Amino acid sequence: MKVASKLEQIRHRINQACTKVNRDPNEIRLIAVTKYVSIERAKEALEAGIEDLGENRDEGLLNKWEVLGDKPLWHYIGSLQTRKVKNIIDKVEYIHSLDRLTLAKEINKRADRKIKCLVQVNVSGEESKHGLPIEETIQFIELLRPFENISVEGLMTMAPLTDNEQVLRDCFRKLRELAGQVQALQLDYAPCTELSMGMSNDYAIAIEEGATMVRIGTALVGEDN
Ligand SMILES: *Cc1c(COP(=O)(O)O)cnc(C)c1O
Repeated sequence: MKVASKLEQIRHRINQACTKVNRDPNEIRLIAVTKYVSIERAKEALEAGIEDLGENRDEGLLNKWEVLGDKPLWHYIGSLQTRKVKNIIDKVEYIHSLDRLTLAKEINKRADRKIKCLVQVNVSGEESKHGLPIEETIQFIELLRPFENISVEGLMTMAPLTDNEQVLRDCFRKLRELAGQVQALQLDYAPCTELSMGMSNDYAIAIEEGATMVRIGTALVGEDN
């Protein structure tokens, strides 16, 4: 199916979710995750009106960047090896996977401007997932104060793979509450107003629970070319 028609369906569901909880759909940034698909398909997404692309590997991002350049806003959404930071740092608008101090140090050292970061939180506590435990997140953010090139724009999480709506809702609500706690600290380097949560299977619920960025791959651009 064409990206344009999938996009129409997704925008419709985003609008429905927003209506349900009295939110403005313009508050929600839709990131097309193109990690499974070709450059052509990513181009199709841009032509359909997408402005934000997400990749989870430096090779994937660089390959597409060479062709698409900085027309889209790039989001780095995957776990990021410290030695890869220098490859992507001047190409990305947001890094969604800040989860340790060595990574913060490297970002700070390599950047020549403030980098918008989201701290990744492992809300569900699953061992297979990256991110900080909820209980360690605030302490971690407090340690980021000295890094002048890092701005903590918000938090990111990946929900468990489940159709259980209550489990998903709890996960997203916990991230929102945690962001509220960070906001209450009024740290000038950590406004923490963004919530990056929600993927193909759960974005409507994430929006109802406060997501400001949804990262959608399969449902929007598909898995193949
Ligand atoms: C792959 C990926 C997505 C998109 O997943 P879909 O289920 O295909 O929508 C979102 N976020 C992250 C971090 C990913 O790695």
